[in-house]
Amino acid sequence: MKTLLPTSTAGSLPKPAWLAEPETLWSPWTLRDDQLIEGKQDALRVSLQEQQRAGIDIVSDGEQSRQHFVTTFIEHLNGVDIEKRRTVRIRDRYDASVPTVFGPISRNQPVFVEDAKFLRQQTDQTIKWALPGPMTMVDTLYDDYYKSRKELAWEFAKALNEEAKELEAAGVDIIQFDEPAFNVFFEEVNEWGIACLERAIEGLKCETAVHICYGYGIKANTDWKKNLGSEWRQYEAIFPQLQKSGIDIISLECHNSHVPIELLELIRGKKVMVGAIDVATDWVETPEEVASTLRKALKYVDADKLYPCTNCGMAPLSREVARGKLNALQAGAEIVRRELSV
Ligand SMILES: [Zn+2]
Repeated sequence: MKTLLPTSTAGSLPKPAWLAEPETLWSPWTLRDDQLIEGKQDALRVSLQEQQRAGIDIVSDGEQSRQHFVTTFIEHLNGVDIEKRRTVRIRDRYDASVPTVFGPISRNQPVFVEDAKFLRQQTDQTIKWALPGPMTMVDTLYDDYYKSRKELAWEFAKALNEEAKELEAAGVDIIQFDEPAFNVFFEEVNEWGIACLERAIEGLKCETAVHICYGYGIKANTDWKKNLGSEWRQYEAIFPQLQKSGIDIISLECHNSHVPIELLELIRGKKVMVGAIDVATDWVETPEEVASTLRKALKYVDADKLYPCTNCGMAPLSREVARGKLNALQAGAEIVRRELSV
Protein backbone atom coordinates (compact mmCIF):
# COMPACT_ATOMS: atom_id res chain seq x y z
CA MET A 1 0.00 0.00 0.00
CA LYS A 2 1.35 3.39 -1.00
CA THR A 3 -0.46 5.62 1.51
CA LEU A 4 1.69 6.44 4.50
CA LEU A 5 -0.07 5.75 7.82
CA PRO A 6 -3.17 4.12 6.30
CA THR A 7 -6.13 4.46 8.65
CA SER A 8 -8.64 1.77 9.60
CA THR A 9 -10.98 0.80 12.42
CA ALA A 10 -10.75 -2.21 14.71
CA GLY A 11 -14.00 -3.46 13.20
CA SER A 12 -17.49 -2.71 14.39
CA LEU A 13 -19.34 0.54 13.82
CA PRO A 14 -22.75 1.55 15.20
CA LYS A 15 -25.80 0.03 13.55
CA PRO A 16 -28.68 2.23 12.36
CA ALA A 17 -31.73 2.22 14.65
CA TRP A 18 -33.87 0.71 11.90
CA LEU A 19 -31.68 -2.40 11.91
CA ALA A 20 -31.00 -2.97 15.60
CA GLU A 21 -31.42 -1.20 18.91
CA PRO A 22 -28.66 1.42 19.05
CA GLU A 23 -25.81 1.66 21.56
CA THR A 24 -26.33 -1.92 22.72
CA LEU A 25 -24.20 -5.06 22.43
CA TRP A 26 -25.96 -8.26 21.27
CA SER A 27 -28.79 -5.99 20.15
CA PRO A 28 -31.69 -7.94 18.60
CA TRP A 29 -32.59 -7.27 14.96
CA THR A 30 -35.49 -4.95 14.26
CA LEU A 31 -36.25 -6.56 10.85
CA ARG A 32 -37.13 -10.12 9.80
CA ASP A 33 -36.47 -12.49 6.87
CA ASP A 34 -35.90 -10.84 3.47
CA GLN A 35 -36.21 -7.39 4.96
CA LEU A 36 -33.42 -8.25 7.39
CA ILE A 37 -31.11 -9.38 4.57
CA GLU A 38 -31.79 -6.19 2.66
CA GLY A 39 -31.50 -4.09 5.80
CA LYS A 40 -28.08 -5.53 6.62
CA GLN A 41 -26.83 -4.78 3.10
CA ASP A 42 -28.18 -1.24 3.26
CA ALA A 43 -26.51 -0.75 6.64
CA LEU A 44 -23.23 -2.04 5.20
CA ARG A 45 -23.49 0.51 2.36
CA VAL A 46 -24.10 3.35 4.83
CA SER A 47 -21.29 2.20 7.10
CA LEU A 48 -18.91 1.98 4.16
CA GLN A 49 -19.91 5.41 2.93
CA GLU A 50 -19.29 6.94 6.36
CA GLN A 51 -15.80 5.43 6.43
CA GLN A 52 -15.14 6.72 2.93
CA ARG A 53 -16.46 10.20 3.73
CA ALA A 54 -14.07 10.30 6.68
CA GLY A 55 -11.20 9.30 4.38
CA ILE A 56 -10.51 5.94 6.04
CA ASP A 57 -8.00 4.03 3.90
CA ILE A 58 -8.68 0.42 4.86
CA VAL A 59 -12.44 -0.07 5.04
CA SER A 60 -14.65 -2.79 6.51
CA ASP A 61 -18.29 -3.84 6.68
CA GLY A 62 -18.58 -2.16 10.08
CA GLU A 63 -19.83 -5.60 11.21
CA GLN A 64 -23.34 -4.56 10.20
CA SER A 65 -24.44 -8.14 9.52
CA ARG A 66 -23.41 -9.56 12.87
CA GLN A 67 -25.19 -9.46 16.16
CA HIS A 68 -21.94 -10.04 18.01
CA PHE A 69 -18.33 -10.42 16.91
CA VAL A 70 -17.92 -13.88 18.42
CA THR A 71 -21.27 -15.61 18.73
CA THR A 72 -22.46 -14.95 15.17
CA PHE A 73 -19.60 -17.09 13.83
CA ILE A 74 -20.00 -19.78 16.47
CA GLU A 75 -23.73 -20.11 15.83
CA HIS A 76 -23.11 -21.21 12.24
CA LEU A 77 -20.92 -24.19 13.15
CA ASN A 78 -21.91 -27.84 13.56
CA GLY A 79 -21.56 -29.12 17.09
CA VAL A 80 -22.97 -25.95 18.62
CA ASP A 81 -26.49 -25.70 20.04
CA ILE A 82 -27.62 -22.10 19.90
CA GLU A 83 -30.89 -22.79 21.72
CA LYS A 84 -29.22 -24.45 24.68
CA ARG A 85 -27.69 -21.44 26.32
CA ARG A 86 -25.64 -21.30 29.48
CA THR A 87 -24.41 -18.33 31.42
CA VAL A 88 -20.63 -18.17 31.59
CA ARG A 89 -18.12 -15.66 32.88
CA ILE A 90 -16.37 -14.04 29.93
CA ARG A 91 -12.69 -13.22 30.30
CA ASP A 92 -13.15 -13.58 34.09
CA ARG A 93 -15.08 -10.32 33.90
CA TYR A 94 -18.77 -10.44 33.07
CA ASP A 95 -21.58 -12.98 32.68
CA ALA A 96 -23.22 -13.64 29.34
CA SER A 97 -25.70 -16.14 27.97
CA VAL A 98 -23.83 -18.19 25.35
CA PRO A 99 -24.37 -21.29 23.15
CA THR A 100 -23.29 -24.82 24.15
CA VAL A 101 -20.83 -27.11 22.34
CA PHE A 102 -22.38 -30.60 22.37
CA GLY A 103 -20.45 -32.44 19.62
CA PRO A 104 -17.56 -32.29 17.14
CA ILE A 105 -17.02 -28.83 15.64
CA SER A 106 -17.14 -28.46 11.88
CA ARG A 107 -18.03 -25.83 9.33
CA ASN A 108 -20.07 -27.04 6.38
CA GLN A 109 -21.20 -23.65 5.14
CA PRO A 110 -19.59 -20.25 4.73
CA VAL A 111 -20.54 -17.75 7.42
CA PHE A 112 -19.51 -14.31 6.17
CA VAL A 113 -18.38 -15.04 2.61
CA GLU A 114 -21.49 -13.64 0.89
CA ASP A 115 -21.27 -10.48 3.01
CA ALA A 116 -17.60 -10.11 2.09
CA LYS A 117 -18.39 -10.51 -1.61
CA PHE A 118 -21.04 -7.81 -1.24
CA LEU A 119 -18.53 -5.46 0.39
CA ARG A 120 -15.99 -6.26 -2.33
CA GLN A 121 -18.55 -5.26 -4.98
CA GLN A 122 -19.04 -1.87 -3.33
CA THR A 123 -15.45 -0.65 -3.29
CA ASP A 124 -12.00 -1.01 -4.85
CA GLN A 125 -10.31 0.09 -1.62
CA THR A 126 -8.32 -2.26 0.59
CA ILE A 127 -10.82 -4.20 2.71
CA LYS A 128 -10.33 -5.83 6.07
CA TRP A 129 -12.57 -8.54 7.49
CA ALA A 130 -12.68 -9.45 11.18
CA LEU A 131 -13.20 -12.95 12.52
CA PRO A 132 -13.15 -14.02 16.16
CA GLY A 133 -9.92 -15.65 17.32
CA PRO A 134 -9.93 -19.26 18.53
CA MET A 135 -9.14 -18.47 22.18
CA THR A 136 -11.79 -15.76 22.42
CA MET A 137 -14.33 -18.16 20.89
CA VAL A 138 -13.55 -20.79 23.51
CA ASP A 139 -14.05 -18.16 26.16
CA THR A 140 -17.47 -17.16 24.79
CA LEU A 141 -19.38 -20.45 25.01
CA TYR A 142 -20.09 -23.41 27.23
CA ASP A 143 -18.15 -26.56 26.30
CA ASP A 144 -20.01 -29.75 27.12
CA TYR A 145 -18.05 -31.98 24.71
CA TYR A 146 -14.28 -31.44 24.41
CA LYS A 147 -13.76 -30.41 28.03
CA SER A 148 -10.45 -28.95 26.93
CA ARG A 149 -9.99 -25.31 25.97
CA LYS A 150 -6.91 -26.14 23.94
CA GLU A 151 -8.59 -28.93 21.92
CA LEU A 152 -11.70 -26.88 21.27
CA ALA A 153 -9.61 -23.89 20.18
CA TRP A 154 -7.73 -26.10 17.71
CA GLU A 155 -11.02 -27.26 16.15
CA PHE A 156 -12.19 -23.64 15.91
CA ALA A 157 -8.88 -22.72 14.28
CA LYS A 158 -9.49 -25.31 11.55
CA ALA A 159 -13.01 -23.95 10.91
CA LEU A 160 -11.67 -20.38 10.88
CA ASN A 161 -9.00 -21.37 8.38
CA GLU A 162 -11.66 -22.71 5.98
CA GLU A 163 -13.64 -19.47 6.34
CA ALA A 164 -10.52 -17.31 5.95
CA LYS A 165 -9.51 -19.07 2.72
CA GLU A 166 -12.95 -18.37 1.23
CA LEU A 167 -12.83 -14.75 2.41
CA GLU A 168 -9.47 -14.40 0.71
CA ALA A 169 -10.92 -15.87 -2.49
CA ALA A 170 -13.81 -13.38 -2.20
CA GLY A 171 -11.27 -10.55 -2.41
CA VAL A 172 -10.61 -9.64 1.22
CA ASP A 173 -7.15 -8.05 1.55
CA ILE A 174 -6.62 -8.30 5.30
CA ILE A 175 -8.16 -10.93 7.57
CA GLN A 176 -8.15 -9.99 11.23
CA PHE A 177 -8.69 -12.25 14.21
CA ASP A 178 -10.08 -10.62 17.34
CA GLU A 179 -8.37 -11.99 20.43
CA PRO A 180 -9.19 -9.84 23.47
CA ALA A 181 -8.74 -13.05 25.49
CA PHE A 182 -4.99 -12.78 24.73
CA ASN A 183 -4.90 -9.97 27.27
CA VAL A 184 -6.15 -12.18 30.07
CA PHE A 185 -4.88 -15.75 29.76
CA PHE A 186 -1.16 -15.18 29.17
CA GLU A 187 0.08 -18.68 29.93
CA GLU A 188 -2.46 -20.26 27.62
CA VAL A 189 -1.65 -17.72 24.90
CA ASN A 190 1.98 -18.81 24.88
CA GLU A 191 1.15 -22.47 25.37
CA TRP A 192 -1.47 -22.87 22.61
CA GLY A 193 -3.23 -19.55 21.79
CA ILE A 194 -0.68 -18.33 19.24
CA ALA A 195 -0.30 -21.85 17.80
CA CYS A 196 -4.07 -21.94 17.18
CA LEU A 197 -3.89 -18.53 15.53
CA GLU A 198 -1.17 -19.80 13.22
CA ARG A 199 -3.35 -22.80 12.36
CA ALA A 200 -6.16 -20.35 11.48
CA ILE A 201 -3.92 -18.47 8.99
CA GLU A 202 -2.27 -21.56 7.48
CA GLY A 203 -1.91 -21.27 3.68
CA LEU A 204 -3.30 -17.71 3.44
CA LYS A 205 -1.66 -15.37 0.95
CA CYS A 206 -3.52 -12.21 2.02
CA GLU A 207 -2.34 -10.18 5.01
CA THR A 208 -3.35 -11.29 8.48
CA ALA A 209 -3.91 -9.34 11.68
CA VAL A 210 -4.64 -10.03 15.32
CA HIS A 211 -6.58 -7.48 17.38
CA ILE A 212 -5.81 -7.49 21.10
CA CYS A 213 -7.57 -4.86 23.17
CA TYR A 214 -9.02 -4.09 26.58
CA GLY A 215 -12.56 -4.47 25.29
CA TYR A 216 -15.54 -2.41 24.27
CA GLY A 217 -16.38 0.63 26.35
CA ILE A 218 -18.95 -1.23 28.44
CA LYS A 219 -19.11 -0.97 32.23
CA ALA A 220 -17.66 -4.45 32.97
CA ASN A 221 -14.57 -3.52 30.97
CA THR A 222 -14.12 -0.01 32.30
CA ASP A 223 -14.49 -1.33 35.89
CA TRP A 224 -11.89 -4.02 35.15
CA LYS A 225 -9.49 -1.44 33.74
CA LYS A 226 -9.73 0.57 36.96
CA ASN A 227 -8.23 -2.42 38.79
CA LEU A 228 -5.31 -2.93 36.45
CA GLY A 229 -3.09 -0.40 38.21
CA SER A 230 -1.15 2.50 36.79
CA GLU A 231 0.80 0.48 34.23
CA TRP A 232 -0.87 -2.07 31.98
CA ARG A 233 1.86 -4.53 31.09
CA GLN A 234 -0.40 -7.34 29.78
CA TYR A 235 1.07 -7.12 26.29
CA GLU A 236 4.56 -7.76 27.65
CA ALA A 237 3.73 -11.39 28.43
CA ILE A 238 2.66 -12.28 24.90
CA PHE A 239 4.55 -9.94 22.56
CA PRO A 240 7.83 -11.90 22.35
CA GLN A 241 6.09 -14.97 20.97
CA LEU A 242 3.72 -12.94 18.79
CA GLN A 243 6.73 -11.23 17.27
CA LYS A 244 7.97 -14.63 16.13
CA SER A 245 4.57 -15.70 14.76
CA GLY A 246 3.45 -15.59 11.15
CA ILE A 247 0.84 -12.87 11.80
CA ASP A 248 1.59 -9.75 9.74
CA ILE A 249 -0.21 -7.03 11.70
CA ILE A 250 -0.91 -6.54 15.41
CA SER A 251 -3.82 -4.26 16.37
CA LEU A 252 -3.53 -2.70 19.82
CA GLU A 253 -5.18 -0.34 22.29
CA CYS A 254 -2.87 2.62 22.90
CA HIS A 255 -4.83 5.88 23.28
CA ASN A 256 -5.90 6.87 26.82
CA SER A 257 -4.67 3.50 28.03
CA HIS A 258 -2.00 2.82 30.62
CA VAL A 259 -0.07 0.57 28.27
CA PRO A 260 3.59 1.69 28.42
CA ILE A 261 4.20 2.59 24.79
CA GLU A 262 7.76 1.23 24.89
CA LEU A 263 6.27 -2.29 24.96
CA LEU A 264 5.82 -1.86 21.20
CA GLU A 265 9.56 -2.41 20.91
CA LEU A 266 8.87 -6.08 21.66
CA ILE A 267 7.04 -6.50 18.35
CA ARG A 268 9.46 -4.45 16.26
CA GLY A 269 9.30 -5.65 12.66
CA LYS A 270 5.56 -6.29 12.70
CA LYS A 271 3.05 -3.88 11.24
CA VAL A 272 1.10 -2.29 14.08
CA MET A 273 -2.45 -0.95 14.06
CA VAL A 274 -2.03 1.66 16.77
CA GLY A 275 -5.27 2.42 18.64
CA ALA A 276 -5.39 6.22 18.62
CA ILE A 277 -9.12 6.56 19.33
CA ASP A 278 -10.66 5.75 22.72
CA VAL A 279 -13.89 3.77 22.24
CA ALA A 280 -14.92 4.03 25.90
CA THR A 281 -15.78 7.73 25.85
CA ASP A 282 -18.23 9.94 23.99
CA TRP A 283 -15.54 12.61 23.84
CA VAL A 284 -14.37 13.02 20.26
CA GLU A 285 -10.58 13.27 20.19
CA THR A 286 -9.01 16.31 18.59
CA PRO A 287 -6.76 15.59 15.60
CA GLU A 288 -3.83 16.78 17.73
CA GLU A 289 -4.61 14.19 20.44
CA VAL A 290 -4.61 11.46 17.79
CA ALA A 291 -1.36 12.80 16.33
CA SER A 292 0.24 12.83 19.77
CA THR A 293 -0.48 9.11 20.28
CA LEU A 294 0.83 8.28 16.81
CA ARG A 295 4.04 10.25 17.44
CA LYS A 296 4.68 8.29 20.63
CA ALA A 297 4.18 5.01 18.75
CA LEU A 298 6.53 6.14 15.97
CA LYS A 299 9.46 5.83 18.37
CA TYR A 300 8.93 2.07 18.36
CA VAL A 301 7.16 1.38 15.07
CA ASP A 302 8.72 2.24 11.70
CA ALA A 303 6.58 4.75 9.81
CA ASP A 304 5.92 2.35 6.95
CA LYS A 305 4.55 -0.18 9.42
CA LEU A 306 2.29 2.12 11.43
CA TYR A 307 -1.46 1.91 10.79
CA PRO A 308 -3.54 4.44 12.78
CA CYS A 309 -6.64 2.68 14.12
CA THR A 310 -9.27 2.71 16.87
CA ASN A 311 -8.65 1.02 20.23
CA CYS A 312 -11.54 -1.39 19.63
CA GLY A 313 -14.90 -1.58 17.89
CA MET A 314 -17.28 1.38 18.05
CA ALA A 315 -20.56 -0.60 17.98
CA PRO A 316 -21.78 0.64 21.38
CA LEU A 317 -21.26 4.35 20.55
CA SER A 318 -23.78 6.70 18.98
CA ARG A 319 -23.47 7.12 15.22
CA GLU A 320 -22.66 10.79 15.57
CA VAL A 321 -19.81 10.17 18.02
CA ALA A 322 -18.45 7.35 15.85
CA ARG A 323 -18.48 9.60 12.79
CA GLY A 324 -16.64 12.29 14.74
CA LYS A 325 -14.03 9.79 15.85
CA LEU A 326 -13.48 8.52 12.29
CA ASN A 327 -12.88 12.09 11.15
CA ALA A 328 -10.51 12.74 14.06
CA LEU A 329 -8.54 9.60 13.26
CA GLN A 330 -8.03 10.61 9.66
CA ALA A 331 -7.22 14.24 10.52
CA GLY A 332 -4.72 13.17 13.20
CA ALA A 333 -3.01 10.77 10.79
CA GLU A 334 -2.81 13.57 8.23
CA ILE A 335 -0.96 15.83 10.69
CA VAL A 336 1.69 13.16 11.27
CA ARG A 337 1.94 12.32 7.56
CA ARG A 338 2.80 15.95 6.88
CA GLU A 339 5.42 15.94 9.62
CA LEU A 340 6.99 12.79 8.18
CA SER A 341 7.11 14.13 4.66
CA VAL A 342 9.08 17.31 5.40
ZN1 LIG B 1 -11.34 -4.87 20.70
